[in-house]
Amino acid sequence: MHKRTALVLIDIQNDFITGSLGSPRAPAILPKVYQLLDNHEWPFIAASQDWHPEGHVSFASAHPGLEPGDAVNVTFLDSPLKTETQGVYADHCIPGTWGAEIEDGVKTRLQYLEGYRTPVNYIKKAQNHSVDSYSAFADNQYHQFTTLNTELTVHGIETIIVTGLITNACVRGTSIDGIKLGYEVVLIEDATESISEEIKQAAIQELEGWGKCQTQQQETRLLTLRRGSGV
Ligand SMILES: [Zn+2]
Repeated sequence: MHKRTALVLIDIQNDFITGSLGSPRAPAILPKVYQLLDNHEWPFIAASQDWHPEGHVSFASAHPGLEPGDAVNVTFLDSPLKTETQGVYADHCIPGTWGAEIEDGVKTRLQYLEGYRTPVNYIKKAQNHSVDSYSAFADNQYHQFTTLNTELTVHGIETIIVTGLITNACVRGTSIDGIKLGYEVVLIEDATESISEEIKQAAIQELEGWGKCQTQQQETRLLTLRRGSGV
């Protein structure tokens, strides 16, 4: 059992693998994520899902004239004088669709582990029509927080092992918020992917620049965890 260490699975949903925002690189993380679920005992697991209403602010289809890859200026909900740039994408992760579901192999394993009393916190994020949410802790404007920080605190978690999709967006946002909230963040490099190696490595470099985020290949990390005390 990895004491005080939680496994965090970011947006391992069909739409980010082979669906509307899929990438040929994404499926490669699945065997690594399965290993993390099969070969370890975690006191707590969090699994986030992008969970957008139809016409969400991040959908290009909600902005006449815009195409996926464009951006739009969005006004902050609680500070009308502040704006942020919101990238827009193809429609994705709409509740009730196949694309919003967690990938089958991961979903099955989570259900199995829950059956053996591993607590799993499913976080449905970016449900607010007007604000996107990359981080599993909070939306992009810190207008609203999810239950993740509270759940981690309740379970005595000090270190989060971050995996999932995609490295430069939701994995990045979750890792940065984890650091800000005082967690040790360990990003498993071969259990996260982006649309290109360059973009992935740039995100990893940025995260390592925060100083409290390590990046490790899974095998290396496993050895480190086994050597460490309390594991
Ligand atoms: Zn989204």
